[in-house]
Amino acid sequence: MKNLQQNSDQKLNILIVSSEMYPYAKIGGLADVVASLSGTLKKMGHDVRVVIPRYDMINKESLNAQKVVEPMGVWMGNKEEWCTVYQITSNSEVPVYLIEHQLYFERWGLYHDSSMHDYDDNPLRFSFLSRAALQLCKDIQFKPDVVHANDWQTALTPAYLKVWHWNDPVLGAAASMLTIHNIAYQGVYPKKHMEYIGLGWHNFTEDKLESYDQINFLKGGIHYADVITAVSPTFAKEITAPYGGFGLSPYLASRGDSLLGIINGIDYTVWSPQNDQLIPAKFSAQDLSGKKICKKQLQNTFDLAEDDHVAVIGVIGRFVEQKGFHLLAQTIESLIQNMHVQLVILGTGDKNLEDFFGNLPVRYSGKIGSYIGFDNYRAHLITAGCDFFLMPSLFEPCGLNQMYSQHYGTLPIVRATGGLDDTVENYDEKSGNGTGFKFWDPTSQALYYTVGWAISTYYDRPHHLKKMIQQAMNKDFSWENSARHYIKAYQKAIENKKRLDGEYKPYYW
Ligand code: ADP
Repeated sequence: MKNLQQNSDQKLNILIVSSEMYPYAKIGGLADVVASLSGTLKKMGHDVRVVIPRYDMINKESLNAQKVVEPMGVWMGNKEEWCTVYQITSNSEVPVYLIEHQLYFERWGLYHDSSMHDYDDNPLRFSFLSRAALQLCKDIQFKPDVVHANDWQTALTPAYLKVWHWNDPVLGAAASMLTIHNIAYQGVYPKKHMEYIGLGWHNFTEDKLESYDQINFLKGGIHYADVITAVSPTFAKEITAPYGGFGLSPYLASRGDSLLGIINGIDYTVWSPQNDQLIPAKFSAQDLSGKKICKKQLQNTFDLAEDDHVAVIGVIGRFVEQKGFHLLAQTIESLIQNMHVQLVILGTGDKNLEDFFGNLPVRYSGKIGSYIGFDNYRAHLITAGCDFFLMPSLFEPCGLNQMYSQHYGTLPIVRATGGLDDTVENYDEKSGNGTGFKFWDPTSQALYYTVGWAISTYYDRPHHLKKMIQQAMNKDFSWENSARHYIKAYQKAIENKKRLDGEYKPYYW
C-alpha cells in the first residue's frame, strides 16, 4: 500500500461508477459532477476512469466507442449476467466505459418510462451496474486505489467490494467512497431482490441494507463505504439530523468524521461572464459595462419596462417543493406592489405554480416577466442581466445557480440551507462585506423582508453593493478547488480501509 500521508502528491488510480455522466446521459447535477470532477482529476495527473451504462441514447458509432471486453460475465446472486463493454476516449480524454446489457439499458429512459413510471427492474439494473464495474477492473486489470460510487444507483459498489473482493489481487486493496448528491432518493425495493443482488441474507439487517423490511441501497452504501461525502459541508451536517436525513440520519451520524462535505465547482468554460457565448455582451469584475447591456436585453426579452436603475430579481429552477417557490408565490404580489423592483421567473414543474407564475406578466405588465419551460439561453441571460438572484429552497444539497450568479455579479438572496449557506456570505451592514443576503425561516415573511433588505441596500447603500459584487465575482468556484478536497477524501478512504483491514480483516461477513 502506498504511503499517502508521506506523499500527498501521490497520483491515484480512481474508478468512478455512476448512472449518469454529461454529455452522454443526464437527468440532474450528478451528470455534471461526474464529468467535471473526472476531467479535473485527469488534468491533475490522476488515472481516473468512469463507468456508466450504455443507454439507448448513447450512440456508440457517433462516439466511435471501441469494444474492450466481450463477453463479460458478472456473477449476480442467483445467475450470471453477460454484457459487453465499450470505451469512449474521444471527448474528454477520461476513459469512459459503457456497460452494454440489452435487456437492462436499451430502453427509452434512465430510470423511468415516458409516463414517469419507474422501471420495475431498477433494483436489478443498478445492482448489476454496481457489480459489473468491479468485474471490469478485473477483466482489464485496472487496479484502483479508490472506487467512487454515487447516489443510490451505485451505492452497492462499496458493499460488493468489501463482501466479495476483499481478498482479490486486483481489487483487494481498493478503498471505497460514496457521494450523496440527493438523499431524497434512496433506492428502496422489496426484499425478494436480495437473491439477485447477491450480498447474502446476513446483509439484510437493520445496520446494513434492511429498512422497514425492504432493501435500501443507499443505506448499504453508507454502511460499507470507507468514506461518505455529501455535496456541501452544511448538507453533510443536515443529513445527520432527523429532518434532513430522510430516515438515514442515525446511520450517517454513526460514521463520524468519515462523513465529509465537499462543495461542487462550476464549469467556467460554460458559466463565465468573460466568455459566455449566450449573452449579448461580455463583462468582468474590472469592467462591468457589459452587464448593463445584458440587463437591457433581459428587460426586452421578458417585456419589462426598460430601466437601467430599477433593481431586477431573477428566479430559475424546477418547480418542485424542495425549491421553496410556493413561498415566493405567497408573497410575490406584495413584493411587486410595495417595492420598486422587477422580477423574472424561468422554470417548469408543478402545474399550479406554472399557471400562477405564467399568468403574472399579464397582471403586472412591465414589472414581472416569466417563461414556463426549460431554456438555457434565458437562464444565461437572467444570470448575467439581473441584480439579484432568489433561491428560497427548503433544502439544497449544493445548488449551482447561487454560484453562477455570484460569478456574474448577481447577488443571491437565499434561504440558508445546505450549499446555499456554505457558498453565500451574508451581507454585513457595518463593513459592507458579503456576497448575498440570507434568511433562515422557511416562511414567506422571511423571504419578503430579506428581499426588502437587499432592495434597500441597492438603493440606499450602492457603495456596499459595488463592494459585494466585487467580492462575489472574485470568489473561487473552480473545480480545481473542489477536486483537491476530493483527493483528500480519497486519501482518507484509503487510510480508513488500511486501518480497518489491519484490525478486522475479513470483518465483512
Ligand atoms: P437542481 O439540480 O436541484 O435542479 P441546481 O441549482 O443544482 O438545482 O442546478 C440547476 C441547473 O439547471 C442550473 O444550471 C439551472 O440554471 C438549470 N435550470 C433549472 N431550471 C431551468 C430552466 N427552466 N431553464 C433553464 N435552465 C434551468
